Amino acid sequence: MIGALDIGGTKIAAGMVDESGRLLARLDCPTDPTSSVEDAIRRMLEMLRQTASLAGEHLQGVGIGCTGPVHPDKGTLGKVEFMPNWEGANLVQAFSQVLGVSVAIENDADAAALGEWAWGAGKGTQTFMLVTVGTGIGAGLVLDGKLYRGVDGAHPEIGHHVIDPTGPLCFCGAHGCWESLASGPAMERWAQTQHPQAQPLSARQLCALAEQGEPRAVEAVRRTAHYLGIGLANLVTLYIPECIALGGGLMQAYYLFKDQVEATIQRNCGLVPHELVRLVPAALGADTGLVGAARTWLNRYAG
Ligand SMILES: [Zn+2]
Repeated sequence: MIGALDIGGTKIAAGMVDESGRLLARLDCPTDPTSSVEDAIRRMLEMLRQTASLAGEHLQGVGIGCTGPVHPDKGTLGKVEFMPNWEGANLVQAFSQVLGVSVAIENDADAAALGEWAWGAGKGTQTFMLVTVGTGIGAGLVLDGKLYRGVDGAHPEIGHHVIDPTGPLCFCGAHGCWESLASGPAMERWAQTQHPQAQPLSARQLCALAEQGEPRAVEAVRRTAHYLGIGLANLVTLYIPECIALGGGLMQAYYLFKDQVEATIQRNCGLVPHELVRLVPAALGADTGLVGAARTWLNRYAG
């Protein structure tokens, strides 16, 4: 069994996963980004010990998926705006020293993509992408069973490719990047600016209202679908993967976005065989992060 850690900005999940991708045990705690990284490491070790004893098998190694830039070879974390105390921390070293097993780390979007490729919607494909649309947009690209990486192991930030340079400013520095136009918060912000007097609505509420035909919610969904479609069409034109799986909170309502997304792909991707690219829902659900983290270890240390 493989230990797994899924480190996000608000929550850390720890668990044990077997070699066929089954989650055996799971615990969660708040990330508490204001505390020290040493404190977070102590909490994560405790959760790993507890889940390991619940699962009751031998721990072979630990896989980590972490938000923000990570250096997969060195094991260090890069700069994450909302977790300033974590920059430069070496989680691979910290966990392998204490637990006496090998440890692998990837960016969380990459880890999730590996998990979906191995055990979920991407099973059996040669070229696969997982796009996660929720509070942000993350994506990972798997080619022949290996993660695509840039120079020095860098993770491509597909969620921050620019869709409309006249769009809103994102924390990444760009105007009108995909995440700033098509994520859940982007939809909420836009709906709010259109009707500043109205009660703020969450993306989930907007989707539910749109389903009932409420005109303002329908408009917000339509705008988001427009930008979601442009971004996905760009990915189809650039990579023509066999399969793009869509995960994350907002994609639970993908049926609201589907027609516009498909029409945009058809319109924008005329030079590539877009009809061969399958767009499907992600299959691993709430466990994607942990299962993907375990898969990063298997990919690195078990061939
Ligand atoms: Zn951005």
